Amino acid sequence: MVTFGTRGRQRTPVQARLRGWARLPRLSPQRLLIACLVAVVAAATLVIYLERRAAAIQQARTDMVMRQVCDRTANALATRTRELFGAAVLSTIEAIGHREIERYNLPRVDALLASGLDEHPYVGRFFFWHERMPARFARQLAFYRPPGEPGPRDLPVTGPEAAGGAFFTDAERGALLWARAAQLGTVGESFAVEELEIGGVPHQAVYHYMWSNAQRTTIFSIVGFIVNLDELRASGFSRLAARGLEPLLNPGGDLPRLALRIEDASGRRIAGADHGEPGLPSAEERFEVLFFPKRELGNYLAPLPSLATWRLIVRPEAALPDGSPSGLWLLSAVVLLLVIAVVCAVGVNREAVRLSQLQADFVMNVSHQLRTPLAMLSGAAETLGLERLRSPEKIKAYAEIVQAQSRRLSALVDQILHFHTADQAGLGAAWQRIDVGALVTRAAGDVRVLADRIPVAIDVAPPPRPVAVHGDPVALEHVVLNLLENAVKYGAGPDNAVSVTVEAAGGRAVVRVADRGVGIARADLPHIFEKFYRGRVDGPTRRGFGLGLAIVRSTVIAHGGTIDVQSEQGHGSVFTITLPLAT
Ligand code: ADP
Repeated sequence: MVTFGTRGRQRTPVQARLRGWARLPRLSPQRLLIACLVAVVAAATLVIYLERRAAAIQQARTDMVMRQVCDRTANALATRTRELFGAAVLSTIEAIGHREIERYNLPRVDALLASGLDEHPYVGRFFFWHERMPARFARQLAFYRPPGEPGPRDLPVTGPEAAGGAFFTDAERGALLWARAAQLGTVGESFAVEELEIGGVPHQAVYHYMWSNAQRTTIFSIVGFIVNLDELRASGFSRLAARGLEPLLNPGGDLPRLALRIEDASGRRIAGADHGEPGLPSAEERFEVLFFPKRELGNYLAPLPSLATWRLIVRPEAALPDGSPSGLWLLSAVVLLLVIAVVCAVGVNREAVRLSQLQADFVMNVSHQLRTPLAMLSGAAETLGLERLRSPEKIKAYAEIVQAQSRRLSALVDQILHFHTADQAGLGAAWQRIDVGALVTRAAGDVRVLADRIPVAIDVAPPPRPVAVHGDPVALEHVVLNLLENAVKYGAGPDNAVSVTVEAAGGRAVVRVADRGVGIARADLPHIFEKFYRGRVDGPTRRGFGLGLAIVRSTVIAHGGTIDVQSEQGHGSVFTITLPLAT
């Protein structure tokens, strides 16, 4: 079912409504399509350009922020590494201090060194010397062996605080380190550090010692340790780093995690990832591999030899965010816009092509339909003018031709003119109270006369009580005439039966025009009320301009009414009009 119109609207001026209705787009469809595409492409290009520019600015900002983050993190990591290497070991050495040494409290020293080793896995050996050591430790250091480690126990430690460790001599290493220590340091308490090879392996040795007199002739005590630098490189540093560096590598927020890499002076990797993606911002710091805090020891430090320097590099673990969080959205929006525009443009184009096709058909149709009766008229007039016709029957037959063709011509011209004056119907100037039953009966009578060559029964069922509406009688009669003419025209031969009923229901006059004709194809149904639209039925008796129903609809709507159609191909159609009852 297709319904048009509005309920309850009494008098709406039709003019405004019909004004746009009769117009066609002024731009040609192709130009319209091209204009749409050009506009969309221009908009898209502008959006993409602005988007790229914003992304580049954003990217530069992100890079700068990332570089700063890397700088700060590298600095913090270097500081933390220095602390990890130095401060804690220092605390062990200081804890042993001279008080313990003076008292020669070996069980206490044993306990402190045992826990110091637990805490600082990279320490190879602690060593110790005191002037009160047994004679076999003369000019020899006592190396500490933690509890549980097998080996010689030259000086087992016993006592309430003892951890179960022991001291042993190591002729080669002990003598070497003692000799070195004797050359280092200043008067009184002092710290010293040096790198030296022990058994062909690079080590760092750290000494904390006391000279017993100002002349530096006698050493009073030494506490120190050695670190195997190869071992530290191979695994010790990673274990150490895992403890204190990890939390610093995650800047949080939207920023990516940072990756750390440590290299020795020759560029050999000591810890951390391989170099990540090229082009990422990075920062680096160098630090001396030093196992006590240089700064804090100040005056106590003997001049330091040059020590191994490592390089610490910090960079983002992955590529940075592309800097344009809205990029995808903008791009999708542009693509969507493009698709919508193209779809619209194609739609407009199709509609415009369809309308212009309808218009062309209309012109052809009108000229064809006008030309046929005109040709017949001029032929008949010519024959009559030549006065060759002798028999009165023939003259009568030609006069009938002239009459019939004139009638046909006048009906055609009427319809075309009516189309152009349809909008006057809504103005209400000629409005009056109309008896719908009488109007329908009159129209049916007219159609019977006009449809002289098509034998068809038109059954009119007027209402039991008068049904009155308010409106333009000529326009409304034209509506009913049009529907009846169609019902006759699209009938299927002698079987066709046309019926018209009028009733009042729900405050409205309801007029139904039904036929048992060819019906309307499903594809035509949504379009039959459009101007110039003609359905897919044809034949000599089914000529038309596709204007009848368009006029009907606009007139009905102008009267505040509705129109709908129910139709099935091959089974006929029912057109229903409703109009507000006159009060
Ligand atoms: P025209 O009759 O001049 O083509 P109309 O606007 O009156 O124009 O009708 C539009 C189309 O609707 C017709 O071409 C026809 O296909 C279809 N139509 C209208 N009334 C009927 C009907 N009673 N039965 C079948 N088809 C109809």
